[in-house]
Amino acid sequence: MKKFASIKTRITIWYTTLLFILVSVVLALVATLSYQLSIDNMEKSIKVQVTQIADRLRHPRESFYNVESNKEFKNVSIYSGTGEYIVGQYIYDVSELPFKHDVLRHETIDGKEYIIYDIFRPGPPGDFHGLWIRGAESVDFSNMFGRSVFTMILIVIPLILILTALGGYYITKKAFSPVNEMIRTANDIYTQNDLKQRIPISRDARKDELYSLSVTLNRMLDKIETLIKQEKQFTSDASHELRTPISVILAQGEYLLDIADTDKEKELAKDIVDKANQVSTLVSRLLLLARIDQSRQKLNKEKVDLSVLVDIAIEGMTDFARQKNTRIAANVAENTIVLADEPLLKSAISNLISNGIKYGKDPGTITITATQTDDATYITVADDGIGIQKEHLDKIWGRFYRVDDVRNDAYGSSGLGLSMVKSIITLHGGDITVESEPDCGTTFTITLKK
Ligand code: ADP
Repeated sequence: MKKFASIKTRITIWYTTLLFILVSVVLALVATLSYQLSIDNMEKSIKVQVTQIADRLRHPRESFYNVESNKEFKNVSIYSGTGEYIVGQYIYDVSELPFKHDVLRHETIDGKEYIIYDIFRPGPPGDFHGLWIRGAESVDFSNMFGRSVFTMILIVIPLILILTALGGYYITKKAFSPVNEMIRTANDIYTQNDLKQRIPISRDARKDELYSLSVTLNRMLDKIETLIKQEKQFTSDASHELRTPISVILAQGEYLLDIADTDKEKELAKDIVDKANQVSTLVSRLLLLARIDQSRQKLNKEKVDLSVLVDIAIEGMTDFARQKNTRIAANVAENTIVLADEPLLKSAISNLISNGIKYGKDPGTITITATQTDDATYITVADDGIGIQKEHLDKIWGRFYRVDDVRNDAYGSSGLGLSMVKSIITLHGGDITVESEPDCGTTFTITLKK
C-alpha cells in the first residue's frame, strides 16, 4: 500500500533537503577555502615573526632579553645552538624536533599538525654556540575558524533549516487551502446529498490556477444542480399528466369488466384493469418520489398506534396473501405509539409486506414485529422467502433496480418500491436496513427515532 503524504509535506521535504544539501556544499567550499587561506596566513605570520626576531638578534647590542620584554614571543622560542631551550613560548610537542634552517615545514606530532619555521643565527664563540629561533603553531581547526563558525554550523544552520521548513509548510498550506475547501465541499455534497453546496471563494483571493479551478467547479455544480432540478421537474410533470388518462383507462376497464359477456372479453378487460393498476401504482410512486426529491412532500406527523396501522396494512394485503398461501402474523403490542405520517408509514409497511408475499414461498409466512426502547422504535418485516444474494443487498434501494427481471415481471414489478420506502423513512428522520439469506428469507428493519 502506498503511504499517504500530502503535497504540502512532500514539497516541504523536497526543498528543505535541497536547502540542506546546498548549505552543506557551500559550507564545505567556504571551509576548504578558509582553511587554505588560514594556513597561508599562519605560514606567512610565523615566517615574519621568526625573521623579525632573528633580524634583531643580528645586532650585537640587542640581546634576546630585550626581545622577550617586547612580548613578541607568541609562537616563537629561542634555543641555543646545541638545542637547549632558552626563552620564548615553550611548545613541548615541537621542542625535541631537529632544527632546519630557513625551511617552512609541516610536521605531525601525536596526531597534531604543526607549522614550523627555524632560523639559525651564529653567535660569538662561547656564547650559546649561536641561536636557533623557532616559530611553531598548531593547525587546529576550531582555533582557525573560531567559535562563531562552529556556533553557526551547530545552531544557526539547523535553526535556519527548521524555520525554512516551518515557513515553507505554512505558505504551501495557505496556497493549498482552496484544495481543502474543494475536498470539504465535495465530501459535504456526497454525504449530505446536498447539491446546493459551493466551494467558498473569498473576495480577496489570489487569482491563480486554484482560484480558476474553484470558479469552474462552482459553475459545473450550478449546471448539474439545474439539470437535476429540470429532470425532477420533468418526472413530476410527466407523472402528473399521466394520472388523468390512467384513471380514465382504469375506470373504463372496470366498466368493461362489468359488462363483459364472454370469458374472452372478461379476460381482456381484466388484463386492462391489471395493467392500468400497475401503471397507476408506478405513477403514484414516481410522483411521491419527485415530491420528496423536491422537498415538496409534507410530513404530517401525528401519534400513530402501530398495532392498528399494521392491522390495516395486513388487511389491505389479504387477497394477495391468499393467492400465494401466505400467512401474515403481527406481533405488535397494542398502544405502540410512534410519531409519523400515517398514510406514508402505512404505504411503506404495505410495500414491505407486498414484497414479502411476492418474493415469499408458497406457502410462506411473514412476521411483523415492533419493539420500542427509550429512544427508538424498531419495526421488522420478515419473510421466509427466496432471499436476496449478498451482491444485490446494497443495490435494491436504487430506483428501478430489480434483482431478477424475468421473475419479477410476473408481479408487474417496477423496482421503485424499496426506493420509495427508503425515501419515506428518511423523510421521517429514520433508517431502514436489510438482512437476507438466499432461500431462507429476508428481514427489513425500520428504525424510527423518538
Ligand atoms: P419491485 O417492484 O421489483 O418489487 P422493489 O424496489 O420493491 O421493486 O424491490 C427491488 C428488488 O429487491 C426486487 O426486484 C426484488 O428482487 C428484491 N426484493 C425486494 N424485497 C424482497 C424480499 N422480501 N425478498 C426477496 N427479494 C426482495
